[in-house]
Amino acid sequence: MDLVQIPSTLRSGANLIGGRWQASATGRTLSVASPWTGGDIGAVPDSDGRDVQAVVEAAQAAFPGWRATPVKERTQLMFRFRELLLRDLDELGNLAALESGKTVAEGKAGVLKGVEVVEFALSLQNLDQGAMLEVSRGVTCEVRREPLGVVAGITPFNFPAMVPMWLFPIAVTVGNCFVLKPSEKVPLTACRLGELMVEAGFPPGVFSVVHGGREVVEALIDDARVQAVGFVGSTPVARAVYARATGHGKRALALGGAKNHLLVVPDADPELTYPGVVSSFTGCAGQRCMAASLMVAVGDVQHLVDGIVEYARRVQLGRDMGAIIDGAARDRIESAIAQAERDGARVLLDGRGATPPDGYQGGHWLGPTIIDGASADMACARSEIFGPVVTIVRVPTLEAAMRLENAHPYGNATSVFTTSGAVARYVAEHATNGMIGVNVGVPVPREPFSFGGTKDSKFGQGDVTGRASLDLWTNLKKITTKWALQRDTNWMS
Ligand code: NAD
Repeated sequence: MDLVQIPSTLRSGANLIGGRWQASATGRTLSVASPWTGGDIGAVPDSDGRDVQAVVEAAQAAFPGWRATPVKERTQLMFRFRELLLRDLDELGNLAALESGKTVAEGKAGVLKGVEVVEFALSLQNLDQGAMLEVSRGVTCEVRREPLGVVAGITPFNFPAMVPMWLFPIAVTVGNCFVLKPSEKVPLTACRLGELMVEAGFPPGVFSVVHGGREVVEALIDDARVQAVGFVGSTPVARAVYARATGHGKRALALGGAKNHLLVVPDADPELTYPGVVSSFTGCAGQRCMAASLMVAVGDVQHLVDGIVEYARRVQLGRDMGAIIDGAARDRIESAIAQAERDGARVLLDGRGATPPDGYQGGHWLGPTIIDGASADMACARSEIFGPVVTIVRVPTLEAAMRLENAHPYGNATSVFTTSGAVARYVAEHATNGMIGVNVGVPVPREPFSFGGTKDSKFGQGDVTGRASLDLWTNLKKITTKWALQRDTNWMS
């Protein structure tokens, strides 16, 4: 397994405005550090409202030409973009890992999931043909999807390539001009995606990147020319972004945080359960919205808990699991573990003080951690810790497990490990979370099935990928046509 390659020179990112790479009007920059080493790897502009004005203006100027480009021509450019993603897969995977702390294998997997969304976008030219029907004698109704104009996407740190590609390939293919505001913690992969979009031949202004933080996000939402906002990040920010965008009467879909439930019942198959549970809470060092962070142990499953602890003990930092995004996040996660102990829970496996991989000692490392004996009201069972930590809550029955799941404010994913079809069916039918797994620790739907949760994990209608995303990025226009009077009339003729 390859460890991340650290480049010898710093990368200097810029805003992509109207097809040109530009510094910010502020003249300021934000430095970017690698979680693997703690050292700087580059910088990007620290933009403000003036840059947002410029980027939206360029996108708005590009829109008439782009919407008039037939979908089959738009799709050809997206085909080329897909080829470039695959050509540069190793480089993109390393870059995503370098700035987010993931392993290189996880970095590449994120790019490949983005490629899958691109492939869904490519299929739209054949799938999304609209409809036409003669609804009355001589009268036809036609429905067709039309792009909105300039749309914006705001993305989090934990998937530098995949989450932006949940949004822009579909939005752009259906004819919008897209402005990406990537996380300021992982902006370099977004710059590389921008370079590939330019190389693929997208006209200037069709895809833009503007860097910065809250000020840029708010300026984008407030700009009257921005028609829709896609957001992925933490729940408090998702809620605020959704409220601000819909307050302007805009369309918005804002995905938030999670506390995914993983039910383990006594008949679970150990061979599926150990890797399923452990890879779910340690993959991406637990920094993913689909990580199982709450294990509900149903009945007597002590033998399975013991096996999970032993399996997790073998996880090697750097090889199997990457780093924590920054020092502040690692301190926050360690405090959450300490708080769980103070609340009376037991730490079965303690990742604090784990040995970093050789050569990466300056990074932000934390080993897998398992907390047992928590009650449902403890902070470790309620809050999203967003690190390689799973909290075990023990309950006597499946019904009690489902009551916990139903009452939890977050709603992304619920998985069950069982060999019983009846148990699996019960969980699938009674769960209130949006994505359900049976013997799958990370139940991310593959395209064309849409990705999206419920409750405090998603604000807005529809989902972020798949067919459900089309309602976010398009209007349905209905056209009713009559060319001649008909003798044989009814109320509509
Ligand atoms: P975050 O909310 O801190 O930041 C997300 C984006 O919002 C960034 O681009 C950031 O610059 C911007 N932002 C931050 N504060 C803002 C503010 N006050 N106003 C406007 N914009 C602001 O999230 P993060 O720490 O980068 O990412 C981790 C979070 O994202 C976790 O909670 C995780 O569960 C969630 N996430 C959810 C999904 C999902 O599909 N539901 C997917 C990935 C990540």
